[in-house]
Amino acid sequence: EEIHLKELITSLIEQHQLKADKTVHVTLEINPESLTLVADRTHFNNIISNLIDNAVKYSKESAEITICCRQTEQTVCITVTDRGIGIPPDKQKHIFDKFYRVPTGNLHNVKGYGLGLFYVKSMVEKHGGTISVKSEPGKGTTFTIIL
Ligand code: ATP
Ligand code: MG
Repeated sequence: EEIHLKELITSLIEQHQLKADKTVHVTLEINPESLTLVADRTHFNNIISNLIDNAVKYSKESAEITICCRQTEQTVCITVTDRGIGIPPDKQKHIFDKFYRVPTGNLHNVKGYGLGLFYVKSMVEKHGGTISVKSEPGKGTTFTIIL
C-alpha cells in the first residue's frame, strides 16, 4: 500500500520520544515533502522503528538523530544517522547477523537480543531493497536503506 513517509516517520518519532528515557532530538528531511512509498505498512513501520530504537539506545546522553528520505530515479533512499557510540570497523560486518551484539563489556548497559537488525535486513531484502552501514566509534552511525 502507499505510505506517506512524512506522516509515518513523524508519528514514529513521537512514539520514540515518549517512551525514551533520554532526550531524543530528530531532524527529519524529506525531499520531495510529499514523498510516498509502496510497501507493507507494518513491515516498514518496524524497519524504521528498529533503526530509531538503536539510534536512541546507542547514544549516551541525549540522542541527536537525522532522518533523510529522498527520491532518486527509480528508488527511495532513507538514511538514519546518530551521533552515538558508533560501531568498530571489524564488527560492522556482523551486526546484521541473528543474535549478534557488539561486545561492549560493562561500558554500556544496554539491553537487547541482537535481533533488530537481522529483522530489518530481511524485511528490506523482502521488499527488494538493500541496507548498509557507515560508522565511526565515538562519532556516530548512519544506516542507509535503498528501496
Ligand atoms: P534488539 O534490537 O534485538 O533489541 P540489539 O539492539 O542489541 O537488540 P540489533 O538492533 O540487531 O540488536 O543491533 C545489533 C548490534 O549492533 C547492537 O547490539 C549494537 O552493538 C550494534 N548497533 C546497532 N545499531 C547501532 C547504532 N546505531 N550505534 C551503535 N551500535 C549499534
Ligand atoms: Mg536493536
